[in-house]
Amino acid sequence: MILENIRYLVTQNRERDVIENADVRVVEDRIAEVGRNLSHPDEHRIDCSDRIVMPGLINAHTHVPMALFRGISDNKNLQDWLHEDIFPAEEKMDGEDVYLGSLLGTTEMLESGTTCFNEMYFKTDRIAEAVEDTGIRAVLARGVMDIEESIDEQLEKATLFVENYRDHERINTAIAPHAIYTCSKDLLRLSKKYAEAYNVPYHIHVSETVKENKDSREEHGKTPVEYLESEGLLDSSVVTAHCTWLTERDRNILSERDVSVAHNPAANLKLGSGIADLNRMKEAGINTGLGTDGSASNNSLNMFQEMKLAGLLHKRNDPTEITEQDILDMATVNSAKALDMEEEIGSIEEGKKADLVMIDIEDVSMNPIYGDRGLISNLVYSFNGDVSEVLVDGQLVVENGRCTEVNHEKIVEAVNERVEKFG
Ligand SMILES: [Zn+2]
Repeated sequence: MILENIRYLVTQNRERDVIENADVRVVEDRIAEVGRNLSHPDEHRIDCSDRIVMPGLINAHTHVPMALFRGISDNKNLQDWLHEDIFPAEEKMDGEDVYLGSLLGTTEMLESGTTCFNEMYFKTDRIAEAVEDTGIRAVLARGVMDIEESIDEQLEKATLFVENYRDHERINTAIAPHAIYTCSKDLLRLSKKYAEAYNVPYHIHVSETVKENKDSREEHGKTPVEYLESEGLLDSSVVTAHCTWLTERDRNILSERDVSVAHNPAANLKLGSGIADLNRMKEAGINTGLGTDGSASNNSLNMFQEMKLAGLLHKRNDPTEITEQDILDMATVNSAKALDMEEEIGSIEEGKKADLVMIDIEDVSMNPIYGDRGLISNLVYSFNGDVSEVLVDGQLVVENGRCTEVNHEKIVEAVNERVEKFG
């Protein structure tokens, strides 16, 4: 299959090339060739002269079943929100609820140009089912924390999930201890041992609130990052979500250990947690991807909205500190690196997975286009996220702006039927 005469191809390759009138050859699940005038008359050709094509966006931190809790609780800080509203709702959640929330969330992501997400939750098999059904790509982890089940039982389930999905085409796995305030030292250490044994990412919430830092200093005499460092848990396989309250020393540690950060500006603002200092993280050389966190704290999974917010937030004192290209990088190549998938996704280059997003050139929010920089600027600051088509693994999963594999009417009806149960 060849996508031919693409009006603008945003490659996100090393040179960040934008190519006009480009062709992309897709063979099975991969990009076979990128260039101009590649097509043969006898191959399946798709005219893209009215399309902008870009890499699928990568959501570096979310809890997709929480789409079911969108709008359930909007005016509390993290601790009150979790203990008063979220944990009680989650206790009532059965497998079918997790599946439905995941269907809703993955459909929302695909229809707003996200082709891969990094997940931490429970009943992960049901999330995997939704991923299989919608056609999105994901890194899934069964979250672990110190609750009623023993550490061994929890890690057994988490690692069984890793083993079961080892060879899945669109599902990668991770080990995800929830946070230092919900996991004992033993659980944090053992989780790392398993993440290393299976060679998968170690995904954890870190330094999300002032309270987390204060409690950590009181209990361990260290910041959360210093604590993880002192336990020997930090390296390039670690993805730390939030990092809202890093000290300069924390930033140096994360940089030295090549730890990635998943920045979630909307959720941090909405729960009153604060604003992560993205510009200082960038200066320190920390790889920082972008995420939405769950729909109960965002309340959207639209990465175009998240990009705009990130751009605006970190320009508030000095508009020269961050560029539109920096922001697009966070949502593509940086998030890919955070998930240890930079060889597979995040840019449109030969050999990578064919995870592509197409946008109608006549979308009014994308025009006018002031050259390559103006095009990236429109993607970050003005585009509403209404993509036309999405390919994952070379398969068309969104057509005319709608997921091809789901019944929207049924999903909407089913999630609204659950409002009484959880509200
Ligand atoms: Zn989270």
